[in-house]
Amino acid sequence: MKYINKKLKIESINIQNIAKKFGTPAYCYSYKQLKENINNFKKNFKSFSPLICFAIKSNTNVNLIKEIKKFGLGADVVSMGELMMAIKAGINPKKIIFSGVGKTSNEISYAIDKKIFLINAESKSEIMEINRIAKLKRKKIQIGIRLNPNTDAKTLNQISTGKKENKFGVNKKTFFEIINNFKNYKNIELKCLSVHIGSQILDHKPYEKMLNVVSKILNQTNHKFEFIDLGGGMGISYDDNSKKLNYKKYNIAIKRFLKNHKSKIIFEPGRSIVGNIGILISKIIYIKETEKKNFIILDAAMNDLMRPALYGTNHKILPSIKTNINSKKTYEFVGPICESTDKFTTLKNFQKLKEKDLIVICDVGAYGMSLSSNYNLRPKAIELLIKTSKIIVIKKRQKHKDLM
Ligand SMILES: *Cc1c(COP(=O)(O)O)cnc(C)c1O
Repeated sequence: MKYINKKLKIESINIQNIAKKFGTPAYCYSYKQLKENINNFKKNFKSFSPLICFAIKSNTNVNLIKEIKKFGLGADVVSMGELMMAIKAGINPKKIIFSGVGKTSNEISYAIDKKIFLINAESKSEIMEINRIAKLKRKKIQIGIRLNPNTDAKTLNQISTGKKENKFGVNKKTFFEIINNFKNYKNIELKCLSVHIGSQILDHKPYEKMLNVVSKILNQTNHKFEFIDLGGGMGISYDDNSKKLNYKKYNIAIKRFLKNHKSKIIFEPGRSIVGNIGILISKIIYIKETEKKNFIILDAAMNDLMRPALYGTNHKILPSIKTNINSKKTYEFVGPICESTDKFTTLKNFQKLKEKDLIVICDVGAYGMSLSSNYNLRPKAIELLIKTSKIIVIKKRQKHKDLM
C-alpha cells in the first residue's frame, strides 16, 4: 500500500474506488504480498526445505487457500470444518495435519477416511481413541504427539500455548509414558513430535529454548521421529517501530538441532503468511464529540475484526485520502456494536476526519475474517483479492436474508 497523489492505493488500485464499487466494510487482500510472504518464508529455511502447512484457522477463505496451495503448501487444521475446507481448496490430504486438544470421534474418523498425513494427538485419551477408531477401520495410521515444552513464548498471555498451565500438548512425563507403552497401540504409528508455543512471537529466544527442550527429550529416548513439527507463531509488525523476528537466528538454531537429530522439519505458519496481506476498508458513519472523548464511529465493528476486543491489540489505521491537516483532538475509533469493548484504537495527532471519510485498518489478513461473527445480527463483510491489477470477489457480502 502506498499514497500516490495523496490517495491510498493497494497494488495501484484506489481505496476510494474499491469502496465505491463494493461497499464497506470490505476485506481486501493483496496477492502480491501473499506471494512475497510465502517466497520469503521458504527462503528463510531453504537449507532444510521444510514441509510448510498453512494454519487454516488464520484465514479460512477457500479461494485464498487455493492460491496458497499453488505454492505447494499443505495445511494445518483444527476442526472437521477446516479439514473439509482445506480439501475443498484442493490441498493434498497427504500434506494435511490435524491439530487440536479436543478432536471428537467423528472428526478422527473423518480424518482417517480422508487419509490425511498426520493427526497430532494432545493427550493419552486421544491416542487411545485414535487407535480404537483405526482398529475398527482395520487401518494403521500415522500420528504425532504434541509436547508441551513449558516454554514461555514471550507474547500476549491470551495467545501463549506452550507453558505448563496451558491446556495444549502433553508434559514430559506423559510423553515418555506414551512412548514407552506405544507397543500397545497396534493401529497407530508414532511418526512426529510436535510443538507450538504460541502466536505473534517476535523474539527468537523462546524458539531456541523450545528446540533445546525437544533436543533433550529426544536424547532420552530411542524412538526415532521421522518428523519434527515446530508449529507456527512467527510474529509480524503491527506498527512501524515494533521489532521483527530474527529468522536468521531461528534458522541457525534449527540447523544446529538437525545436526544431532536427523528428521524432516514441519512448520505450521498462519499469521506470517497472511497477516500483512489484508486490510479492512471502513467508512465513518458519525463523529460524536463528548466531554471526555471524540468518537469516530465506523461501519466496521468487533464482529468484523475481533482482535482488539479479544486481545486488546492495536491495528494501524490510515486515512484513504491524505490531507496533512492534523486534528488537535484525540480520536477513539469504535464500531456500532452494543459493547464497550467494540473499540479499535485511540490515536492522537491523527489527520482531521469528517463523516463519510474512508479509513483503512491494516494487517487484518490473519485472524480477521476467520474470527468474525454475526453478533448484533450483522452480515459478514465482503472479501476481495487484488491479483494482477484486478479486483476479484473471493467471498460475497452476506445478506440480511441469509441471517433470517
Ligand atoms: C494457531 C496455530 C498455528 C498457527 O499460528 P500462527 O501464529 O498463526 O503462525 C500453528 N499450529 C497450531 C497447532 C496452531 O494452533
